[in-house]
Amino acid sequence: MTEIALNNLGKSFGPFTALSAMNLTIADGEFVALLGPSGCGKSTTMNMIAGMLQPSEGEILFDGRNVVNLPMARRGVGFVFQNYAIFTHMSVRENLAYGLRAQGVARAERERRTAAIAELLQLTPLLDRPSAGLSVNILQRIAIGRSAVVEPAIFLLDEPLSNVDAAFRAVMRGELKALQRQFRQTMVYVTHDQLEAMTMADRIAVMDQGKLLQTGTPLDIYNNPQNTFVARFIGAPGMNILPGTLAQSDRGMVVDLGSMGRAAVPAVAARPGPVLFGFRPEQVTPDSHGALTLPVSFVERIGARSILHLGAGAAQAKAVLDNDTTPPKPGETLRFSVDPQAIRLFDPATGNAIGGST
Ligand code: ATP
Repeated sequence: MTEIALNNLGKSFGPFTALSAMNLTIADGEFVALLGPSGCGKSTTMNMIAGMLQPSEGEILFDGRNVVNLPMARRGVGFVFQNYAIFTHMSVRENLAYGLRAQGVARAERERRTAAIAELLQLTPLLDRPSAGLSVNILQRIAIGRSAVVEPAIFLLDEPLSNVDAAFRAVMRGELKALQRQFRQTMVYVTHDQLEAMTMADRIAVMDQGKLLQTGTPLDIYNNPQNTFVARFIGAPGMNILPGTLAQSDRGMVVDLGSMGRAAVPAVAARPGPVLFGFRPEQVTPDSHGALTLPVSFVERIGARSILHLGAGAAQAKAVLDNDTTPPKPGETLRFSVDPQAIRLFDPATGNAIGGST
């Protein structure tokens, strides 16, 4: 198993910079998700790690050894793409065993490993079926198995679940995680779906517009986003961010949110003045003595929870409430509080988090 270090990695296509100054070390056996919107440079990064694309600058080290000039076949990486690449004229078994056969693995060992991976991915009953005609879900499962069976030291997956249906995606999230636990490969997983990244990854690297914005554990990124992009991108719905004014009151620091109210915040190392006031929809607590109010514009009921759409214009927010209390109706006003410790402030000029207590 292998540590991957990206040092100042960059890629330009003519005048266009697809990736700039990426620094990221992925530990041996770690599962890191590269997360970001379409076009942010995730696949470009992945293709350089795999050896399909030459960097314009920087280094890629596998266990300390620069592999930039090493061809893909000699890097020891397994790669699964969004579009499964299955040989449809072969059976499921032949597809799964393909890489082992190419490596010259002896027959008994080949059969043992093929059977084991089929069992792990619930493909055993299908082993002798021709691959042609199987569903997209199953074909992607075979593609994952075919790469995993050769036990590459590094396993790269680029949006492997984006073409499968939602129910199957949920199942596969669990199976991929189990697969990685079993083989302990270093795993890099590209996705634009924050839920996939949050549920599977040991650490998430959030990217936007060719830049790495933040790296951390899912919980750290959820709780302590370093800027407004990460704050809004992580979470479903993302963090509420409203304009306000930081002020000193006789009871400590507050953020004045105009007609919405004034919220007490922990003492921060920031001057009074304009700030962006952030709080997660899950941290809204209906509270008849709460300091904040917003009108309810509509209510989405999603099973066990409701998403309240609050306010209008710049003062818009969402609240996620459990359905054990009857949610307010559109037109009513929600009075609520937010735990001061859960409030995050951002600089309106840069979008960066204003951190640290005084
Ligand atoms: P997606 O999920 O849509 O694939 P991504 O984050 O993986 O997004 P990349 O595929 O890495 O994004 O692309 C990053 C940027 O680089 C995009 O703007 C893309 O158009 C551009 N790009 C990628 N490959 C090339 C190329 N061969 N020539 C020119 N521009 C390219």
